[in-house]
Amino acid sequence: MSWFKKLFSNVCPECEAPLTCDENGVCCTKMCPHGHYKEETYCSLGVSIVYDKYDM
Ligand SMILES: [Zn+2]
Repeated sequence: MSWFKKLFSNVCPECEAPLTCDENGVCCTKMCPHGHYKEETYCSLGVSIVYDKYDM
């Protein structure tokens, strides 16, 4: 069941560092501290956006 657990764990798919989580009321942002991965979830819209190797 490790694949199942990995699907829902909040770690970077690339370096497996724990993702940092930031919630501001509108959206919840999860990102890799090393900049590999970023995910924004808009709870009110039911939308989540995933960025790969984003530029900041
Ligand atoms: Zn990473």
